[in-house]
Amino acid sequence: LTPADSQRIRADFPLLDRTVHGKPLVYFDNANTAQKPRAVIETVDRFYRHSNANVARAVHALGEEATSLYEGARDTLARFINADARDEVILTSGTTQAINLVAYSYALPRLGPGDVILTTRMEHHANIVPWQLVCARSGATVKAAPIHANGELDAEAFIQMLTPEVKLAAVTHVSNVLGTINPVARLAREARRRGIPLLVDGSQAAPHLPIDVRAIGCDFYAFTGHKLFGPTGTGALWARRALLEAMPPFFGGGEMIREVRFEGTTFADPPHRFEAGTPNIAGFVGLGAAIDYVQGIGLERIGAIERELLEHATSALQAVPGLRIFGTAPDKAAVIAFLIDGVHAHDLGTLLDHEGIAVRSGHHCAHPLMQFYGVPATLRASLSFYNTHEEIDRFVEAISRVRRLLA
Ligand code: PMP
Repeated sequence: LTPADSQRIRADFPLLDRTVHGKPLVYFDNANTAQKPRAVIETVDRFYRHSNANVARAVHALGEEATSLYEGARDTLARFINADARDEVILTSGTTQAINLVAYSYALPRLGPGDVILTTRMEHHANIVPWQLVCARSGATVKAAPIHANGELDAEAFIQMLTPEVKLAAVTHVSNVLGTINPVARLAREARRRGIPLLVDGSQAAPHLPIDVRAIGCDFYAFTGHKLFGPTGTGALWARRALLEAMPPFFGGGEMIREVRFEGTTFADPPHRFEAGTPNIAGFVGLGAAIDYVQGIGLERIGAIERELLEHATSALQAVPGLRIFGTAPDKAAVIAFLIDGVHAHDLGTLLDHEGIAVRSGHHCAHPLMQFYGVPATLRASLSFYNTHEEIDRFVEAISRVRRLLA
């Protein structure tokens, strides 16, 4: 990427221009939520100024326009993940809602005492707690496949744990803390061979890698729109059509029914069966614009830019005395979790904030992973293609200064 290319990309993201505590912002909290390109902001603005109406309810022109924009976003999402059909894409408020939908609608009716949901040690709480809730109701248990010290999944152990008691397996595509990219296609193949459905949490993958649910061969794929440069409150669940057809509704209300009678109600086909109530229409229209934007740059190119940023940041951080990086898998996304000996994560996070540098400090919604490493919290710098070498250098200089002050 030439400096001019980089400037052009950054100019698409108005927020990157601002200062924080009098310093130019360095935004390294992209795994938490990503900034929005002008195209998304303007699309949402245009929707409310020009096309706002509810979907699937009115015959008037605005209602039809809003519906076609909303359903158009579904088409864009379906193409983005290479789904077989648009009806396999359910629009949700995010990954959390998508996984809860699978937990309550698919898993719960199939779970009983002795059954198992298999997940991994590196999951976000969103891919642990919903399973615990449905297991508590059914007498099933959640088991976690182990990881190696470098943050790689122990794939052999995961595969061995795919026993007949396992009713569903759930794994993250990319770890939000370690950056590890998991071999989801291989895990899907092994699960499929044993007749066990596999859910992949794609929250951290969709913004960084080309996603192809058919090539992965999984059964469910969940992701979130706000990390993909779209509005908050948007996300999606993709599932094989046969699974969706066999699932009862999770939320009831308007828009998800065929006919309502007090003697008994019949439900719409997927995907609308799972989209009760008025959705985040403007948000999804904005998410469609985000995907168009990302595809305009190209996920292959984004991946290459981010790999280069990751290498630069990793080698600069490795030169800081006493700095430990968590997650050094050979195949990883541009997420760097780290600690400095003798420095509390929150203290360092706060001092970086005073320099205008936004990183996350905490447990990153991954308590079991923190327990694995025996630490209460880490810092996490998560990069995006709009970040630059200069920002990384400012970040590493600030860390070095703070270390001399605190360690
Ligand atoms: N899974 C992973 C791996 C995540 O990083 C996140 C968001 N931090 C989630 C699930 C939950 O996503 P959301 O809060 O958008 O529902």
